[in-house]
Amino acid sequence: MTVKDIFETMEYGPAPENAADAFAWLVDQGDRFGHFINGAFTPPKDSFTSKNPANGETLATLSQGTQDDVDFAVSAARKAQPKWEKLGGHGRAKYLYAIARLLQKHARLLAVLETLDNGKPIRESRDIDIPQAQRHFYFHAGMAQLMSSELPDRAALGVCGQIVPWNFPLLMLAWKIAPALAMGNTVVLKPAEYTSLTALAFADICRQAGLPAGVVNIVTGDGATGELIVNHTDIDKIAFTGSTDVGRKIRRATAGSGRALTLELGGKSPYIVFEDADIDSAIEGLVDAIWFNQGQVCCAGSRLLVQEGIAERFYTKLRARMDGLRLGNPLDKCIDVGAIVDPVQLQTITEMVASNSDGHTYAAAVDMPVEGCFYPPTLITGLAPSSRLMQEEIFGPVLVATTFRTPAEAVQLANNTRYGLAASVWTENVNLALDIAPQLVAGVVWVNATNLFDAAAGFGGMRESGFGREGGWEGLAAYTKPVSPNKPLARIDGFKGDKGPQDPLDRTPKLYIAGKQARPDGGYSKQVYSKSGALLGQAPIANRKDVRNAVEAAHAAKSWSKTTGHLRAQILYYIAENLSARGDEFANRINALTGARNGRKEVDSSIERLFSAAAWADKYDGQVHNVPIRGVAMAMREPVGVIGALCPDESPLLGLISVMAPAIAMGNRVILAASEPFPLAATDFYQVLETSDVPAGVVNILTGSHGELAPTLASHLDIDAVWSFSSTDLSSEIENASAGNLKRTWVNRGKARDWAVDHSRSFLEAATEVKNIWVPYGE
Ligand code: NDP
Repeated sequence: MTVKDIFETMEYGPAPENAADAFAWLVDQGDRFGHFINGAFTPPKDSFTSKNPANGETLATLSQGTQDDVDFAVSAARKAQPKWEKLGGHGRAKYLYAIARLLQKHARLLAVLETLDNGKPIRESRDIDIPQAQRHFYFHAGMAQLMSSELPDRAALGVCGQIVPWNFPLLMLAWKIAPALAMGNTVVLKPAEYTSLTALAFADICRQAGLPAGVVNIVTGDGATGELIVNHTDIDKIAFTGSTDVGRKIRRATAGSGRALTLELGGKSPYIVFEDADIDSAIEGLVDAIWFNQGQVCCAGSRLLVQEGIAERFYTKLRARMDGLRLGNPLDKCIDVGAIVDPVQLQTITEMVASNSDGHTYAAAVDMPVEGCFYPPTLITGLAPSSRLMQEEIFGPVLVATTFRTPAEAVQLANNTRYGLAASVWTENVNLALDIAPQLVAGVVWVNATNLFDAAAGFGGMRESGFGREGGWEGLAAYTKPVSPNKPLARIDGFKGDKGPQDPLDRTPKLYIAGKQARPDGGYSKQVYSKSGALLGQAPIANRKDVRNAVEAAHAAKSWSKTTGHLRAQILYYIAENLSARGDEFANRINALTGARNGRKEVDSSIERLFSAAAWADKYDGQVHNVPIRGVAMAMREPVGVIGALCPDESPLLGLISVMAPAIAMGNRVILAASEPFPLAATDFYQVLETSDVPAGVVNILTGSHGELAPTLASHLDIDAVWSFSSTDLSSEIENASAGNLKRTWVNRGKARDWAVDHSRSFLEAATEVKNIWVPYGE
């Protein structure tokens, strides 16, 4: 091309990045890799190859991790862990800082390697993936430094098994390894089969940083190696990023094992454009939302919802912009869209789009490379909300679109998905944006922006997009546990008896559903005796149908979540006041039920617990994260939704109130299964609720067998979280059944909790999810 041609056509010339250093690094390693275990590479086994998806060339051969390899890696991590933890926050911070510096030093090598291996444009690996990976190590060097002063009651979990996907290989590694190491854990990480090279380069960096042997172990291989890690019994935590299907399998595989679990899964994130939006900005945003990394992004803005009045104009402009996108050699700095990671993924995308005959499909009129895994940017308009492509993740450069008329309809359409990872809202009206953002079921919302990430702001999903956060203070909970371990909890059975009623006037209590006393559906009840064998009363036995009714009532009470903290505090104080008025009666009841003499103390502590929750109701605030953009990332604490809880058996009133009060203080609605052996304190307590202005459906109380209620609660698709503090250890059943809708679980694993101690903070944390709302500012 002559200069004159260039001026005439305004065409870009090619600007390829030099890959020589990356190839030289591969050659230096022999183009063959073993695993990185205990500070050294194992002999390579040449099990599979890693290819450049842009041209099909083999980059290196890699080893498939076997049971022996995983055992070796886990034992190396186990051995290294105590010393790593004892090194202290400052000692670990120095290593994390050294790694961050080395990631900076080798940034270009890593960016080129990532692009060769994954097919993503060099612009993205150079400007986003690698700098973000560095940032995570810097940020978490700080977290390591601050751990002893800011998290004095938290300790490392131990050995973490971490499994990452192929779309952001080094960045996902950094998201997982940096916080784990900062908090004193050691790790065994498996990169994705398609993209292991930067993880192996990272292993090399760990060596250069002088990281103690065994602190970081990298085992390569496919899903089978991942399964070996998931099923390893000497691992304390599994952190997984990948598809929802595999996440669900992992939830089941780890159920009841006591291993901690976080899941970062898929999404079908809405991209909402209101008619007053800056249309050109919204279109540029879309380029970053759905064509960034060829749409292979968990939080890709893959579902466009555009307000009807501007839809045709928007689509026309969008198609024109799509035609201007440049596909080709990912190493070329002028390329917008690179290669799909592998022919298998290309085929999945191709088949999904080909299977759809609804709406109108537009493939960008772009020059397609003659070789390699490329797919044209595609827009499919006019799909029904229920259409398969509107609901399922395509994980490719394909945008599906539909229109809406009103803000309410936009919210409804946006939330019409099983996922809840991210969302973008485009409008020039800040009031509208900030009205819509809290209504979206998503862990992250970007206002007039998309795909903004930072280590200081937690990232993670709601619903079937998984649970747990990566980044921010909120991400540290996933890599720590309380310092003092809980003691085992023995099963508590009720008393048996054959004597007549202690008080012939005792009424037969009912269940408490939707603010009313309700007869149990099955019509059965259980006799409750005192220690001396006297009949204290009959407790109804709730069944599946009663659970369903309670869930319905809890959903109908959703306006509770929108009430102010001030109002919720007033109601909690009022419950305390009314309980106090009947304090003696409750104390006697507790003494009669438990056969102990600490009823009065339990009532007083219950009143105090209600005060605590009332105090927190308007004080458990979010944060504004200090992210490196001109703008703010507001971390808002939102209620989890509907929580089903098996209340402690041992403290029939205090246990129930300790669970209920913080949950409703945060705006949740609860279905409480009362103490199984001593249910009558709960059935008395609903009378207090009835007189305390608690709206119907906010608190529902069931009595009956925890063993029977647990699977029903855990498998119910309209319950968002299940907690268990029962003395029957139901952890395994609950975690297993929760896999259906990937609800949040908090189970005691057969461990006791001292209810006399105020654990409100843990409850507040479990009762809320953090939503980060990013609001960039400036003209
Ligand atoms: P997969 O879930 O198939 O794989 C993710 C990782 O898990 C890979 O390392 C994979 O190994 C491994 N794996 C596969 N099967 C098992 C198993 N049974 N047990 C343990 N590990 C297993 O997803 P993809 O790699 O295909 O990635 C695409 C998906 O990941 C998309 O659905 C996307 O939405 C989601 N994702 C979510 C992110 C988030 O932050 N929420 C981020 C990135 C992706 P291998 O690939 O080697 O076979």
